[in-house]
Amino acid sequence: MDIKSIVSKDPIGEEVEVKGWVRTFRSNRFIALNDGSTSKNLQVVIDFENMDESLLKRVTTGACIHVAGKITESLGAGQSVELAAVSLEILGDANADVYPLQPKKHSLEFLREIAHLRPRTQTFGAVFRIRHAMQFAVHKYFNDNGFFQVHTPIITGSDAEGAGEMFRVSMLDPENPPKTEEGEINWKEDFFGKETNLTVSGQLEGELFAMGLGKIYTFGPTFRAENSNTTRHLAEFWMIEPEVAFNDLFDNMDLAEDCLKYVIKYALENCMDDLELLAKRQEDEEKQLSQDKRTIPLLEKLQFVADNEFVRCSYTDAIDILKNSKPNKKKKFNYFIDEWGADLQSEHERYLVEKHFGKPVILYDYPAKIKAFYMRLNDDGETVRAMDILFPGIGEIVGGSQREERYDVLKKKIEEFDIEEESMWWYLDTRRFGTCVHSGFGLGFERLISFVTGMNNIRDVIPFPRTPKSAEF
Ligand code: ATP
Ligand code: MN
Repeated sequence: MDIKSIVSKDPIGEEVEVKGWVRTFRSNRFIALNDGSTSKNLQVVIDFENMDESLLKRVTTGACIHVAGKITESLGAGQSVELAAVSLEILGDANADVYPLQPKKHSLEFLREIAHLRPRTQTFGAVFRIRHAMQFAVHKYFNDNGFFQVHTPIITGSDAEGAGEMFRVSMLDPENPPKTEEGEINWKEDFFGKETNLTVSGQLEGELFAMGLGKIYTFGPTFRAENSNTTRHLAEFWMIEPEVAFNDLFDNMDLAEDCLKYVIKYALENCMDDLELLAKRQEDEEKQLSQDKRTIPLLEKLQFVADNEFVRCSYTDAIDILKNSKPNKKKKFNYFIDEWGADLQSEHERYLVEKHFGKPVILYDYPAKIKAFYMRLNDDGETVRAMDILFPGIGEIVGGSQREERYDVLKKKIEEFDIEEESMWWYLDTRRFGTCVHSGFGLGFERLISFVTGMNNIRDVIPFPRTPKSAEF
């Protein structure tokens, strides 16, 4: 029986068998056993007078054991039932002299170095059970709302996705690549007969399917060779990208807000044990900090976002707020905001969310110059129907837009952005035949998990993080 069933059902008097990993063993009598099914440990009680001593010596932190016995009421604090062991078998030893995980607090940095063992810790058990629940909630949300998931390609031949630096996919000999007569690398001889890369976004292909199936979403890995070593960027991350025919920018905002609230509520309703554990973790971490440096308690923060309307604010209004803000006047921002058209840095986004509004914010109608070519141009000729959703502690969690559906305007934009028109023929075709208003967005899955778990570093919410100079495991 798994430990989750035991601790949730309290089957007193039942004979059970349990397999799991030893968290602690104290007084030669109490084993805290965990099998990953829940954050809760099962207390196994050993009658050491009737157990082989040499066997008990091998019950060390990290050892894998198999225990059989009877579930009894627990007199100790902290659990209602325990397992009175009748037999115990060691499945896998963990030599305490060399096993890196000990029953004490390890830093997250240290645990990143042993990412192959961190799933066995309380914190990471909680994070990855929540990650699972959240991906399920995402699929449930879209399925229940009539969306179809589309598997867009991971290897892409289009270099116009425009979302960031790409990782090349090539089978050419790096020592001696075939050359054209002009002396350039001849990609025609490569595996796909052209330059290919790992995708940075499934959006363009997603649009093609929205123009046939109506409401679609993608949920897949994306890759960006951006050399930004931040706590919010990974080189490989997962993204959810819905795309909906007939939605305008405001329908798009409604969808994103509804979706985010739904999955956050899902976590509150289904992951309470793990969330409580992480909430306590955050509280402990922040104990040393002064009151004003502490963040809102995790559960309170999640409930607040689930229950309150997001603020909607145009880019132009945001610039006014920022221009007149204290940190700007006192030159506290690294990037001074002096005029309309400036790209917002994360310091500005965080000021708006955390200091000015104190709520998630949807910024929209950005200057066309700082956004992608496919975003719909407004009548002012200066701004596009783009939106970013900014979350406290995270910054941008969603980026989206209403797409340019007018063939001539899109074609002109492609020229202006210096994109090879021939490579976009299939994308332009959707605007030539049966075009319509449509919108979509990209939700970074790891940023969502960071927010929900309160884990500050994005490296700690993906099983095996890929970042500049780091692809271990
Ligand atoms: P940022 O400005 O934070 O780098 P972006 O503008 O490049 O984000 P988009 O291209 O709009 O982001 O991607 C959509 C979403 O994907 C973002 O809102 C964010 O949640 C997520 N995202 C983007 N880049 C990364 C990354 N390198 N690692 C993890 N998530 C990312
Ligand atoms: Mn980016």
